Amino acid sequence: MIIVPLGVGSATPTATRHLSSVAVWREGSVYLFDCGENAQMRMLQGGLKRSQIDCIFISHFDTDHYSGLIGLLSTLQLQRRDRKLTLVGPEGLKEFVEWNFEFANIDLNYPIEYVEVEEGIEEKRVVDEDEFYVEARPLNHTKFCLGYRFQEKDKPGKVDAEKAQEMGISEDWQYKELKAGNDVELDDGTVVKSMDIVGHPRPGDSFAYITDTKYCPNSVKLGMNTNVLFHEATFSDSLSEKAEETGHSTAKDAARVANEAKTKLLVITHFSARYTNEYVLLREARDDFFPTWVATELRPIFTDPAHEKGIIQPKVYLKEINQNKGGNGGGNDNNNNGGSSGKKKRGSKGKKKRFRKRKNYSGDKSRKKYKKSRSSSSGSSSNDSRKRRKRSKKDDNNDYNNKNKSSGGSSDDQRQPKQITPRTPFDDFDRF
Ligand SMILES: [Zn+2]
Repeated sequence: MIIVPLGVGSATPTATRHLSSVAVWREGSVYLFDCGENAQMRMLQGGLKRSQIDCIFISHFDTDHYSGLIGLLSTLQLQRRDRKLTLVGPEGLKEFVEWNFEFANIDLNYPIEYVEVEEGIEEKRVVDEDEFYVEARPLNHTKFCLGYRFQEKDKPGKVDAEKAQEMGISEDWQYKELKAGNDVELDDGTVVKSMDIVGHPRPGDSFAYITDTKYCPNSVKLGMNTNVLFHEATFSDSLSEKAEETGHSTAKDAARVANEAKTKLLVITHFSARYTNEYVLLREARDDFFPTWVATELRPIFTDPAHEKGIIQPKVYLKEINQNKGGNGGGNDNNNNGGSSGKKKRGSKGKKKRFRKRKNYSGDKSRKKYKKSRSSSSGSSSNDSRKRRKRSKKDDNNDYNNKNKSSGGSSDDQRQPKQITPRTPFDDFDRF
């Protein structure tokens, strides 16, 4: 199972965060949990095919959780999809989708199976396939909101082929029977018991998606013993009153659920736009539940990295990381990045050279200039040149602001856009 966060913001998108959505890849199929604005573009950037979507699960009808749905369904129509799509969500989902397409006068060329969950229900198995099922439970938000648990059914244990051969098993159908838990009778009348040949069943993978809720017992039930619990952490503990008022969780609430549910890995998401640095929230959650990660858009989480790594090739994200790595050794200092691109934008070759040469002190031009200015002010005290030297040291430290001042640059055109640094020391791992 590969979990790819597509949007980790709450309520309003920011320059670096998109609206709620997470894709779960399993055996070639994609299951989308919520579909905020931009979800379909993020899928493309993350290397996920939209045509592979089998089911879309909507948690509730706050715009940030379903605003990308109609656009995505339209894309599937344009891609001439003819395969069934399952849409799961609170009651009203069918009406919403059908009204939209009726309004736009579009006849969908693929069938949609709607699974609606009525208010007041305690639990519902919304999808039940041979190999997995998905369970929905109501959460505690300002409006009816559903949490989901994606659970693979237990896989049969491994067959001890050597032992089976010794005991006289040779046909394929006999292996199948034994794997299914049935005993097999051989021609000579001896019975080979399944439990002698087949090992313990292996537990299936599990993932819970819990967003837009205060702490509630149903969150714990959904997350119980999961491999990955994807839980919202909109606010930090200092805003717990606001969280209570708006029906959201703090990072500590998420950790509490993870603790009570005994999950293996907690991934926090749905960050309020006020936190430009979500690692504040990560720190709070980790104080109470250490195996916590912060959801990073397009950064996949593997539950079985040995088999799954490399299956999905992100298109945008890897490029960003490489650029960052190559640029300044993986540094995550905004000033640093701003400084380097600042040089480019200024576009003045002379200035660019001047900075570079100064760094190495090998140069002629800058050296000459330096000498010139020194000689021109030869009458004045040596203090001046000392000051100048100090300044140039500051330049070398890549302090962008100082650089601007010392080089006399002042105008607005030198103001640089903030650089986005996808990597931080906290997420320097991609599996558990
Ligand atoms: Zn939300």
